[in-house]
Amino acid sequence: SQGVWLLCRPGFETDAGQELVTRAAEAGVYGYFAPSAAAGWVRFEAPGQDLDAHLFPRLNWRDLVFVRDWLGEVAVVDPLPEADRVGAVLDTLDTLSEKTVFRRLEIHTPTEGAAPDLARFARKWTAPLARALRAKGWLSGDGQSPSEELPTLEILLPDFGKAIIAAGLPGNGSPHVAGIPRLRMPRQAPSRSTLKLEEAWQVFIPGDRWETLLAAGQSAVDLGAAPGGWTWQLVRRGMHVDAVDNGPMDEGLMETGQVTHWREDAFSWHPRKRVDWLVCDIVDRPGRVVDLIGDWIEADAFRYAIFNLKLPMKKRWESWELYRDQLQEKLSSAGNPGRIRARHLYHDREEITCFIESRVTDSR
Ligand code: SAM
Repeated sequence: SQGVWLLCRPGFETDAGQELVTRAAEAGVYGYFAPSAAAGWVRFEAPGQDLDAHLFPRLNWRDLVFVRDWLGEVAVVDPLPEADRVGAVLDTLDTLSEKTVFRRLEIHTPTEGAAPDLARFARKWTAPLARALRAKGWLSGDGQSPSEELPTLEILLPDFGKAIIAAGLPGNGSPHVAGIPRLRMPRQAPSRSTLKLEEAWQVFIPGDRWETLLAAGQSAVDLGAAPGGWTWQLVRRGMHVDAVDNGPMDEGLMETGQVTHWREDAFSWHPRKRVDWLVCDIVDRPGRVVDLIGDWIEADAFRYAIFNLKLPMKKRWESWELYRDQLQEKLSSAGNPGRIRARHLYHDREEITCFIESRVTDSR
């Protein structure tokens, strides 16, 4: 690939770009990004360096924070002639030296600032383009279930006159279109925040680990729990939850008998024994939340933790790096080979969601 397209929340392109510049440099690939408008994507390039050989194998997309998904650039169609856009894409693909069979076609338009009809055009264009691609053998056949090992074909349409052809990275990219799991709001859940914990699990926990990490019968603590959207998720997984909040908890949730409500200050509440899950959705200064989680690490009081950190308006990547180092430092001095991940989730705005796994014994 000549470049990498990073998909992120609109307005966070600089953070996603800085993150990849830093992480790529750690992998020995020196590149830069072009600052872009709030399209929800940004292009990283490293001229003269082989991204397929040196970047993608060395960087796991699960370790990226502001990048929801990344795509390898295949070719650019510019101009994309109004008279025959499908033909232009096929012609461009024909100039490639290697023929790839793709698994699925996705067309992306800018999240913000696009021409008014562009998204509608993209939706209408998908079927005829897919048909033509299939006829020429670029896309795997209709009705077959294509192998997960095939890349997805992803076309970015910044406007009506240009198409960027890119490919998903099989095994090293989000299983969800544009890195956004489509979640339906559960009717019984006490608050919309519930989707955030569910998305965090989807993003941080690979499908084959759910049964282990989210097993029934485990113990959980929810700091800042009211009215109970996160607690509801833990209860649904069959856990018992200590819910700490001065505010009222949802009555239906309390009736499950799986929740103990502590009307106390979460910053001074302590568990009686080590818990499986610690979750924390308190909106406070990020430094204060990091210190709180640090205390729990020091006490070796949880196996898994998910919590939010509110980020400043600027230098968000740098401030996450500082908080990550503080948490890493805590783990190291506790002799805990834990793993820290974070992601700017679809349901996050000015915050990111962090995941710590204590005492990791495998390398996933
Ligand atoms: N996760 C919850 C849900 O899904 O319904 C929403 C949590 S809400 C964003 C933040 C909560 O943190 C509020 O209910 C607030 O009362 C609580 N909170 C703030 N500071 C707290 C503290 N020091 N101790 C306990 N709870 C606190």
